[in-house]
Amino acid sequence: MLEQAKQLLKRVYGYDAFRKGQEEIILGLLESRDTLAILPTGGGKSICYQIPAMLLEGTTLVVSPLISLMKDQVDALDRLGIPAAFLNSSLGAAQYREVMRKAAAGDYKLLYIAPERLDAPMFTLLMDQMRIPLIAIDEAHCVSQWGHDFRPSYRQLAGWIGRLQDRPMVAGFTATATPEVARDISGMLALRSPNVFVTGFARSNLALSVVTGVDKKRFLRDFLAERPDQSGIVYAATRKEVDQVCAELQRQGVAAVKYHGGLSDDERIEAQERFRFDEVRVIVATNAFGMGIDKPNVRFVIHWQMPGDIESYYQEAGRAGRDGEESECVLLFGPQDIQVQRFLIEQGTMDPDRKAIQLSKLYTMMNYGRTERCLQQFIVEYFGEADVAPCGKCSSCLDDTKAVDVTSETQKALSCVGRMKGRFGITLVAKVLKGSREKRIIESGLDRLTTHGLYRDWNEKDIVEWLYWLVAEGYLRVSDGAYPTVSLTELALPVLEGKEAVFQKRKPLKKRFHAAAD
Ligand code: ADP
Ligand code: ZN
Repeated sequence: MLEQAKQLLKRVYGYDAFRKGQEEIILGLLESRDTLAILPTGGGKSICYQIPAMLLEGTTLVVSPLISLMKDQVDALDRLGIPAAFLNSSLGAAQYREVMRKAAAGDYKLLYIAPERLDAPMFTLLMDQMRIPLIAIDEAHCVSQWGHDFRPSYRQLAGWIGRLQDRPMVAGFTATATPEVARDISGMLALRSPNVFVTGFARSNLALSVVTGVDKKRFLRDFLAERPDQSGIVYAATRKEVDQVCAELQRQGVAAVKYHGGLSDDERIEAQERFRFDEVRVIVATNAFGMGIDKPNVRFVIHWQMPGDIESYYQEAGRAGRDGEESECVLLFGPQDIQVQRFLIEQGTMDPDRKAIQLSKLYTMMNYGRTERCLQQFIVEYFGEADVAPCGKCSSCLDDTKAVDVTSETQKALSCVGRMKGRFGITLVAKVLKGSREKRIIESGLDRLTTHGLYRDWNEKDIVEWLYWLVAEGYLRVSDGAYPTVSLTELALPVLEGKEAVFQKRKPLKKRFHAAAD
């Protein structure tokens, strides 16, 4: 079977070898195993169900939410000589009937369908006449409330699969699924002891960095000056900031354009095209930019602020280096950026559950900004992929600052958090450590804690930053919800008991912040 699959890969697609994961996924499907495949965008998911579809008897159903994508795929299959069609609202009545007739006759190897069409009585009749070995579900994360793109029609899909009398093998495909989402998808789609594959998330040509405490404008100017012939994207959070950063670059004589939702369609298309055809070096954009672009030689992606979650960050940063050449992804991390993001979530219209989920994702994003671990590992593990070696080229891997022993400071902070019994937020813990005599503190009796004032000679901002570092390293945990409180994790106890030491690689906080202010 594997040989046949390889021959098809060569003969139909012209590729010599499977990518990481593809072979295992295809083999599993050929052995009739339910499957959940989590591969990054561009990782080659379509081949994973198209090749089995060609080898299995009957017609593979592909459920996809995006009409334009269906058409692209069917056109591509046409060109490859594989009989395929789609059923969705873009077809006229006559075309629809024609596809139904041919499908019933078994003329197609693949039939694409939108999830909301499945329940139609016509379609149920059709299914009785068809032989369906496999239902492939694209963008499977849409079934999960935890995912970032929940669609009610996917919920129906789950019910529909459950009601099938003669259930074919089911395979879900997605580019974004944290372990929670993966579990959720598997449950919602009622996958039967599925093969789960998470693979291909590491991008070895990307050098990830987090840069903290710099003058962003100066950083950007120097960065561009050092790479005069490279082009890339600068992502900023708001339209206003996009305008400002772009204007600043233009003042410095950098060929830059801007892109955001406040521009007309024409302006946006023009900006995108000028960037794509290398008429300008830099495009400054909000996250509105990216869906349609497919520029291979983007050498850098700089984030002016952190996005709200790792999924968004990696998707945007991952637009660098599509051609496989060495590229850089820089996050300009300002601890205060979290305030903006948190505000956006809290003021948003999401229901409370979603807000809590989004907040916890935001904290993970913030941990990325502070971690001393390999950044590539951090991201890849976030997506649930294990056993990936340190990348050797991220700002953590390259940081040769000597780690200093910060056990005693850590004990003081952890002990204070312990005494506050998980009832207060980070700001208040910082105030207690600072020794503040604010009304709130006196009223709660917090001034009587033995840890009150232990960090008297630090400034409060540094204390907050230090506490967040302890969160990023896993000694403290911040709760979800509208009033996040901080508490100890399992890692805290051995430190408090003096059984484990804590080392911090970065320059001592005060120096770091003073250097930044220079
Ligand atoms: P996804 O759906 O995961 O985003 P696609 O299925 O569209 O990705 O594949 C992305 C690109 O990679 C396509 O151009 C596809 O032809 C190509 N590709 C897929 N598998 C291989 C392979 N084994 N070798 C080389 N190119 C591949
Ligand atoms: Zn690394």
